[in-house]
Amino acid sequence: MKIGKNAITVLEKRYLKKDENGKNIETVEQMFRRVADAIAAADAAYDDKADVKKLSDRFYELMTNLEFLPNSPTLMNAGKELGQLSACFVLPVGDSMEEIFEAIKQAALIHKSGGGTGFSFSRLRASGATVRSTGGVASGPVSFMRVFNMATEAVKQGGTRRGANMGILRVDHPDILDFIDCKKNNADITNFNISVGITEAFMQAVQNGDTYELVDPKSKQAAGELEAREVFHKIVESAWRNGEPGIIFLDRLNRDNVVPSQGEIESTNPCGEQPLLPYESCNLGSINLVTMLAKDKNGWRIDYKKLERTVEDAVHFLDNVIDVNKYPLEEIDFTTKQTRKIGLGVMGWSDMLAYLGMSYNSEEAVALAGEVMKFITETGRRASARLAKVRGAFPLFGESIFAAGEPLRNATITTIAPTGTLSIIAGCSSGVEPVFAYVFIRNVMDGTEMIEVNPVLRETLEARGLYSDELMKKIAAEGTLQHIDEIPDDIKRVFVCSHDVSPLYHVKMQAAFQKHTDNAVSKTVNFAHNATMEDVEEVYMLAYELDCKGVTIYRDGSRAEQVLNIGSVK
Ligand code: ADP
Repeated sequence: MKIGKNAITVLEKRYLKKDENGKNIETVEQMFRRVADAIAAADAAYDDKADVKKLSDRFYELMTNLEFLPNSPTLMNAGKELGQLSACFVLPVGDSMEEIFEAIKQAALIHKSGGGTGFSFSRLRASGATVRSTGGVASGPVSFMRVFNMATEAVKQGGTRRGANMGILRVDHPDILDFIDCKKNNADITNFNISVGITEAFMQAVQNGDTYELVDPKSKQAAGELEAREVFHKIVESAWRNGEPGIIFLDRLNRDNVVPSQGEIESTNPCGEQPLLPYESCNLGSINLVTMLAKDKNGWRIDYKKLERTVEDAVHFLDNVIDVNKYPLEEIDFTTKQTRKIGLGVMGWSDMLAYLGMSYNSEEAVALAGEVMKFITETGRRASARLAKVRGAFPLFGESIFAAGEPLRNATITTIAPTGTLSIIAGCSSGVEPVFAYVFIRNVMDGTEMIEVNPVLRETLEARGLYSDELMKKIAAEGTLQHIDEIPDDIKRVFVCSHDVSPLYHVKMQAAFQKHTDNAVSKTVNFAHNATMEDVEEVYMLAYELDCKGVTIYRDGSRAEQVLNIGSVK
């Protein structure tokens, strides 16, 4: 197996099957075999002559070659008693004590199993509104979010991984200003990412410099108005301050709601890439684009034949996951199987560009993003149509926007996930993000230093006879290659890291992928520490103009406990 040292460490810690004393009782190979067997077994339900062994071998090969990996819960739980395989859930939060605490209980069960939850708090009445049964006053969405947050904190201890939530509030909710500021203190509501649900009407008002109406969630009556630009500036200021809130364009999520008869999409999963209806879940999987390259006499190129086959088998894999999955709630089991959404995406995008000699910061790369993602979505849809011939279309197909066309097994096919852990396992750059830093120095316990170099950079420098530990230390200290004299210009052009990529290209790249992705794209636009609020505002507007479904930004150094630091020890 081609799996690296860091990957083994991650897998041993969290993913391998353990006995009751916490001792690992399987190897990495056995883990992939466990997953392959469990997922391939679903074929037997559709065809009693299905060659499940052969299919398992193919799934095993896809994973151990690091060509395709399913989301973490599938790796952790497939073929085990827990058996919960999805990363993404959305739960409804109704405006009553029963419904609020029911959602907290449901979220706890999901977190325990390694899934993440998204909620819209927009249905909750505003703070200060009356509570009829008691004559008291309601405490409002933000105060209930704190309760969800505390519950997540408590469940953290016993679960497979720390729980993660998305909290959304519509921009026309009367408590919107409280919400925008609710994470002002970095120690507050830490188990949530938050996003403001932006409406088209609000954006029009921003553009025209108008006011817009707040709406009482209960009576649906107007409940005052605010200056749209002022609210927009507050969102921008807060995001500039410490990265939150992000924004999501609700009307765009609903424009692409493939079964509008089922109601409105109000929320996404925690990292924003998967809009879902209440009680839907979705399992994700990612293709490692680096492994889709082939070398010929002219250098590296994309092997589209291989990519096609990989997409077909990945769609088959993810559709099987829906059947094998043991859902944490009856309602989720039912709702998920009504649409059978899957989220196939990519990782290693930035590493692939480096092999192809393209800069992330270029029109050429933006164009290629569209080409590759279009190919994946179209191929994936054909694969889903083929599955539908044998297994039937998803049950709500007749009510879907696809009803007039060829039956499909899955209501959505593609999603671009962050691949936080998957990319470590695959040893490639994460999702469609640029590489954060090409060289890290890691302090090992015995006091020695270990240099970790991006494999594509290492290969490139070694081939040119330029590689040295000294040079690597210099890159690690600088955080970027751009100001180092010994590095030739053609290498500098290609090996740009997150902070070398202009915010403009961050957004352009996101938009290029979004154009051909059924669901959404997980992407953070990175800013330098000295970026201004105007810079942030420009990016938020650009994301709107380029038809993104949302946008998240992060300004370097704007949170004390930031996960990755440029130019310092990881
Ligand atoms: P991975 O690489 O582990 O498969 P990603 O980083 O791609 O996961 O995240 C995909 C989705 O998985 C997130 O949007 C979220 O829904 C869920 N997720 C990620 N991390 C966590 C976590 N710690 N707890 C719960 N859910 C998570």
